[in-house]
Amino acid sequence: MRDELKDYRSWGGLTARDSEIVGPEVWSAAPEAFRKPALAYGNGRSYGDSCLNDGGVLIAARQLGQILAFDRESGLITCEAGVLLDTILNHVVPHGWFLPVTPGTAFVTIAGALANDVHGKNHHRQGTFGRHVRAFELVRSDGSRLTCGPDMNCPFFTATIGGFGLTGLITQVTLQLLRVPSAEMRQEAIHFEGLDRFFEIAAESDATHDYTVAWVDSLADGPRFGRGVFFRANHASASDLPQERAPHPLPFPIKPPFPLINRLTLRGFNMLYRAAQPSTPEPRRIPYRPFFYPLDRVSNWNRAYGPKGLRQFQCAVPMAQAREAVEAMLRRTLAAGEASFLTVLKIFGEVPSPGMMSFPIAGATLTLDFPHRGERTLRLLDELDRIALSAGGRVNPYKDARMSPATFEASFPHWREFAGHVDPGFSSGFWRRVTGG
Ligand SMILES: Cc1cc2nc3c(=O)[nH]c(=O)nc-3n(C[C@H](O)[C@H](O)[C@H](O)COP(=O)(O)OP(=O)(O)OC[C@H]3O[C@@H](n4cnc5c(N)ncnc54)[C@H](O)[C@@H]3O)c2cc1C
Repeated sequence: MRDELKDYRSWGGLTARDSEIVGPEVWSAAPEAFRKPALAYGNGRSYGDSCLNDGGVLIAARQLGQILAFDRESGLITCEAGVLLDTILNHVVPHGWFLPVTPGTAFVTIAGALANDVHGKNHHRQGTFGRHVRAFELVRSDGSRLTCGPDMNCPFFTATIGGFGLTGLITQVTLQLLRVPSAEMRQEAIHFEGLDRFFEIAAESDATHDYTVAWVDSLADGPRFGRGVFFRANHASASDLPQERAPHPLPFPIKPPFPLINRLTLRGFNMLYRAAQPSTPEPRRIPYRPFFYPLDRVSNWNRAYGPKGLRQFQCAVPMAQAREAVEAMLRRTLAAGEASFLTVLKIFGEVPSPGMMSFPIAGATLTLDFPHRGERTLRLLDELDRIALSAGGRVNPYKDARMSPATFEASFPHWREFAGHVDPGFSSGFWRRVTGG
């Protein structure tokens, strides 16, 4: 089946324009035959233009879809670049292994997770995805093939982890999995009434729970400002219950001509969501999927944002400024009259990231997303950038579609060192936007 350009889009709703779609085998057989800059496309779960390359070549990396080796004793798995984390979980969980780090959707490719050095709810314990990568193969546009690892071709290892796909085509990855006692989680949900309480619970949970994350009610104002639900969990011990299989996602049934997310619908949703998460005095034993991937139950849920899509904002700010900056960003959002559907607050730990351009820094990370309503949305996002940067923080490039070169420079002042490792035959919409290159 021929791939169509319209199938290549980002999760925020940007579509690929004037790109030539090429299979990875065709491209790597003769990269020099392609005159235009290339970029690998995984599964398009990046929100903005970091997975797009208008006017250039997009390499359809999902075609590299085989699991090549899995050692049930050591938990080492080697996969081709386009294998989805979902496929890996189905393959390894029945044998007592799990992904060491996973983002909030299982529908990302292993190379996409590496190229953005993604983080999960266990960042305070396990750091980023790249810490668990033992090796990968990188094909450069001059045709060379490099095997990279913590002790092999180190400059390319650290530049490619979190390198936004700009250092070449990853063809396969070897990952160290995490041993788990069961396919279930022991989860607690704790309602909190304000940001101070969030920071207290987060500090208490750091040492006791592998996974922590909070949902914040972005529309709560007055005495309820900063309220939310804190989720924390550990892998549950073994039980006789049958292992869970992947549930079939439910399709989002319509493509509405306008955003279904607005202050009114969100107020109702937030009320229902809070009520559906009763405070649990005792941990509940639940399958791992609803804990890690609640949004994966509904495929294409991003359609609810209407034809203009959504704009996500994620920043990380150092701990000393975190409380104040998070409050300022939430208040600014309220004052702008915008409704953020998924407002997520989490503490990043001190574990260093292996990638030169990895996003996480120790401190707090706040994620907000908005239906794209043009200028007013962009103005708010610029203000959020400003608050994050003046708190000494940074803005996440792979959740973004519009940060300015100045915001990028302030977020990653060392980017020119990274630029030295960018493959001259590679580029992306994001890279041209923030560097003018
Ligand atoms: C619902 C949802 C929840 C999310 N939760 C989180 C979260 O908790 N934490 C987090 O960190 N992220 C999160 N994300 C973002 C997502 O995990 C990342 O954007 C991820 O990198 C997407 O991977 P992908 O396979 O879809 O790749 P794409 O989005 O297609 O591409 C991502 C990057 O990888 C590069 N790339 C892909 N394949 C290759 C290859 N073979 N060789 C070289 N480069 C390649 C691309 O060029 C691009 O720069 C979430 C996204 C969604 C939609």
